[in-house]
Amino acid sequence: MANRSSMDGTAGEVGRLLKRARRVLFITGAGVSAESHIPTFRGATAAFADGMTEDGMPFEEALSIDTFQANPKLAWKYLALLEMSIRSKTPNAAHIAMAALQTPGRSVFVATQNIDELHQRAGSRMVYELHGNLRRILCTQCNYAVHLETYESLTPVPQCPQCQGWLRPDVVLYGETLPASAQEAFQKEQSQGFDLVFSVGTTSLFFYVVDPVMRAARQGIPVVEINPDSTPISELANFRFAQPAGETLDGIMKGM
Ligand code: NAD
Ligand code: ZN
Repeated sequence: MANRSSMDGTAGEVGRLLKRARRVLFITGAGVSAESHIPTFRGATAAFADGMTEDGMPFEEALSIDTFQANPKLAWKYLALLEMSIRSKTPNAAHIAMAALQTPGRSVFVATQNIDELHQRAGSRMVYELHGNLRRILCTQCNYAVHLETYESLTPVPQCPQCQGWLRPDVVLYGETLPASAQEAFQKEQSQGFDLVFSVGTTSLFFYVVDPVMRAARQGIPVVEINPDSTPISELANFRFAQPAGETLDGIMKGM
């Protein structure tokens, strides 16, 4: 396990593994965007103290499909707060490092739980948006879809210009299953295997982000975790950096 005092040596070791790797997987969570000043829900830089919203319910309930259906105005209030938190934010050193690792000889896959599009904006080309994208807006009734840079033009419960149905962002609300398309595409890449697997800035609460790590550990593929807090996968990691994502990835790339 790496701590600050041993970080240089360990970063060098991971850098050497990366240099040789041909297929690299990064599993990312809200912590990767924390250094872009987008607060996480849990852990370091948490947006919700004790997980509670000002409406007295846990954020998982405010952002659930049940709340969206029963009280869309309340769900949209928290979706709009999320949008405010990502508005005009730009990729940080962690997003940029992952994109820079893409070379003709090395494929870099990013399976992200983030909905802020910052991996794509940094230049990552193979991004699986497991939880969708907050800027894509869909109609719940018809096939209307639009990509919005901000929610400024939206009313508190926006309606479809084609059919007056409720609009919603194309994100996975709590209580919903993952979009089949992202899951299938990610499964296909997983079946081809990876040489190195990173888990960065995620609490690793969902099986679909834990499973690829467990699979790698079983197959003897090195696993690297970057997260200031320990998580359910920390024990499986061959290399663990209890550090912010940006500076750690920068340090690793210097060791390549
Ligand atoms: P999460 O479960 O992935 O937790 C965030 C993790 O990031 C924590 O383990 C924390 O210790 C770690 N972390 C904090 N700062 C870090 C840093 N600088 N470097 C590395 N790791 C760091 O995510 P969550 O915040 O509980 O959010 C739940 C879900 O809500 C997400 O999966 C996502 O769908 C959505 N969300 C998205 C964004 C975004 O798109 N940027 C932000 C907040 C929440
Ligand atoms: Zn419609």
